[in-house]
Amino acid sequence: MKLTAETFTVHKKFALKISRGTTSQTTNIWLRIAQEGIEGWGEASPFSIIKEQTKDTASLLAELEQLIPQLESFHPLQRQEINLKLQQLKISSAIRGAIDMALHDWLGKKANLPLWQIWGLNCDRLVPISVTIGISSPEAAVTRLKDWQNTLDVKMLKLKLGSNQGIAADQAMVTGIKQEAPKTRLTVDANGGWSFDDAVYMSQWLDQQGVEYIEQPLPVALDHQLSALSQASPIPIFVDESCFTSADIPRLANSVAGVNLKIMKTGGLTEAMRSIQVAQACGLKIMFGCYSDSSLANTAMAHLAPWADYLDLDSHLNLTDDPFCGVKIKGGRLVLNHQPGLGVVT
Ligand SMILES: [Mg+2]
Repeated sequence: MKLTAETFTVHKKFALKISRGTTSQTTNIWLRIAQEGIEGWGEASPFSIIKEQTKDTASLLAELEQLIPQLESFHPLQRQEINLKLQQLKISSAIRGAIDMALHDWLGKKANLPLWQIWGLNCDRLVPISVTIGISSPEAAVTRLKDWQNTLDVKMLKLKLGSNQGIAADQAMVTGIKQEAPKTRLTVDANGGWSFDDAVYMSQWLDQQGVEYIEQPLPVALDHQLSALSQASPIPIFVDESCFTSADIPRLANSVAGVNLKIMKTGGLTEAMRSIQVAQACGLKIMFGCYSDSSLANTAMAHLAPWADYLDLDSHLNLTDDPFCGVKIKGGRLVLNHQPGLGVVT
């Protein structure tokens, strides 16, 4: 098979501030795998979490370019062998994600079926997506909310908390949004920005505000306190940064209520599917999330979305120059098309 990689830069309509920093643009990688005149597409986007050594786009691209000659002798149907090779070579999860995504796109195009149909899923079974508002002043949060409301029928909001100005700033942002949209469903994501005591206090306060769950309240280093936090919290605790793959789920299963799965963390759809099944077996709720992914990677995860309890696949909706077109949005829900493979075009 022939592999071709190139980069593209996407810019955010609204810069996204989280507890670890602010992102206004990213350069992602577009991977194409060709065989028998069929081309499968994948995307790798850089992300930064303490647990994994952070890699920027240049180092991800260098890793991929070094890898390409070692993959050319494979056929796109040899996913088991290819994935084993990627594991042996300790390839970054974002690059593995792009390769596995492209191989699945190729498979769907070869079979002339959309991936959701190959897996026998009901693509009408998608819950509404949540849209994200970054850490901001109450006024800026309301401005962001109004733009989201002009873009789509907002049914659910995810507020980024964990402000470096402390939990009073977090509370002010939640209060501002509640005043503007009292009936909209709310979730929050602290991106590990709270101490244990702040997290316990905020869980009780956020429960009074009607927030449905808290994502990653504690930094990864405090995973051992998740169980005590879940016992103290009146609302469910989910993890994101603490959970990369299915291998992380059993040790977290008795401490949290749900996991946020992302294709750049799992390293592809194969491992995303395994993570879904392990999480289901452990009785956990499943949410899907994203980094600064374009429509390409978000459409790939959307094909598995009939299995998700919560969907936070909104990054492409905040781009001014998304080069891809795949999953659409209608009435606050993602809508997959009936094109073969991922169903993504430029
Ligand atoms: Mg998160």
